Amino acid sequence: MDAIAAINWQDRADRLQFRTQAFIDGAYVSAASGKSFDNISPRDGKVLTQVAECDAEDVNRAVAAARRTFESGVWRDQHPRARKAVLLKLARLMEEHADELALLETLDMGKPIRDSRSIDIPLSIRCVQYYAEAIDKLYDQVGPSGPDAMSLILREPLGVIGVVVPWNFPLMMAVWKVAPALATGNSVVLKPAEQSPLTAIRLGELAVEAGVPPGVLNVVPGFGETAGQAIGRHMDVDMLAFTGSTEVGKYFMRYSGESNLKRVSLECGGKTPHIIMPDAADLDKAAANAAGGIFFNQGEVCNAGSRLLVHESIKDEFLEKVIHHSRRWTPGDPLDPATTMGAMVDAKQHERVLSYIDKGKAEGASLRLGGAAARTDTGGYYIEPTLFDGVDSSMTIAREEIFGPVLSTLTFKTTEEAFKIANDTIYGLASAIWTRDISTAMKAARTIKAGSVWINCFDAGDITTPFGGFKQSGFGRDKSLHALEKYTDLKSVWIDLS
Ligand code: NAP
Ligand code: MG
Repeated sequence: MDAIAAINWQDRADRLQFRTQAFIDGAYVSAASGKSFDNISPRDGKVLTQVAECDAEDVNRAVAAARRTFESGVWRDQHPRARKAVLLKLARLMEEHADELALLETLDMGKPIRDSRSIDIPLSIRCVQYYAEAIDKLYDQVGPSGPDAMSLILREPLGVIGVVVPWNFPLMMAVWKVAPALATGNSVVLKPAEQSPLTAIRLGELAVEAGVPPGVLNVVPGFGETAGQAIGRHMDVDMLAFTGSTEVGKYFMRYSGESNLKRVSLECGGKTPHIIMPDAADLDKAAANAAGGIFFNQGEVCNAGSRLLVHESIKDEFLEKVIHHSRRWTPGDPLDPATTMGAMVDAKQHERVLSYIDKGKAEGASLRLGGAAARTDTGGYYIEPTLFDGVDSSMTIAREEIFGPVLSTLTFKTTEEAFKIANDTIYGLASAIWTRDISTAMKAARTIKAGSVWINCFDAGDITTPFGGFKQSGFGRDKSLHALEKYTDLKSVWIDLS
């Protein structure tokens, strides 16, 4: 039995204590209004706990704490080696609490405990480690200004960073932004999604325990329209880093324009084309990836391979293989280490995905697999892995982001047609192609308008590689050293030596 299977997660869940307040200025506090909201576990539809419902007043307090700590230099002016040690300690504390963080994530948003414990939490830790290690390896520049002058090109932290994140990878999406923002010396106000606030709330406490000065990282759980909007419109927030839907991303552009012109970076939705050429070296491996690419994390993945583009000559054979590999993906209890697919995050998302399935049928796509709610007796929000054939680019299920386990199959005759379909979307987050032909592969890399192009693999990469979108998938990159750019600004210093 492996380490994850050896743990009785239900027993751990029964004994778990939740942190449920806001974390402002280094302490847990209730919302100023005294209000809280129900945090429902999608696993069974039952109330897990009540969480502080922060609004504009709490955001004001959090931003004030962030501003005060930024201006005092208590964090940004520490020696890079000291800040590195603190963030490395935070990573160690996350490691020590990895079981607890994984359990919080699974109970809160319904993903399988095996995924939380072996993917979400370890990758979040690695992200914090990576940016910690970067702190004392960053250099500024000296310009080629000739003998009579010296120019320094300095990078400075921006100040107060607002971070607003979604519920699909709650801790990971948060640290993709919080870690580089802190590494560059900023102070942060983080708003987790209302569906999944628990790991973010815990992160605030662990950061202070690691030595991040109180007030440098603040966490304000609450709703988008109130707490999220208050951060977006705040006159004293310098930059807003957002991950979520394209629709809400556009709100943040508006908030910025109507307030203080804060910088905005957006990681938004996607409709990833997954192209299968007839010369792919291993169609079976491609089919396993086509299934995993849409059913992993219940399909609640921004870069989910939701549009399967298969050459018409191999379509039937290939779909048989995809259906075969789909058997590995069955909704089950998220707390069971054997489960590969958990629950949709909430009742609304469950409804939404089912309504897209209905739309697919109504618009004439042919249902090959799944198509219904599952495990309805549990009270939780499960959906069967679902596969449509006979989809064309004009259908709603080929155009809109479903954010659930629904795969749409389209066919093409020529490579050019495949690329044309791939680009026939408002999104441009990711793409993939399976082929043995190097020139087809490289043409795909050049032609497809997306932030990531995977060749003979799917959803590959690590913390060293930037991630983000083209078109309405947003702009700005998370991960890699490039992520540091958006939390800093350039300052030019010209020194006259004549
Ligand atoms: P969402 O509805 O856009 O919410 C994202 C965050 O914005 C949440 O914290 C939300 O608060 C907040 N928000 C909602 N309405 C707001 C408003 N009017 N003003 C200010 N803030 C507001 O997205 P979601 O449903 O949580 O997540 C799914 C989306 O995220 C998908 O579109 C997916 O593609 C995208 N995503 C993208 C990436 C990427 O890296 N590109 C990664 C993961 C997910 P509430 O808690 O109130 O909703
Ligand atoms: Mg929840």
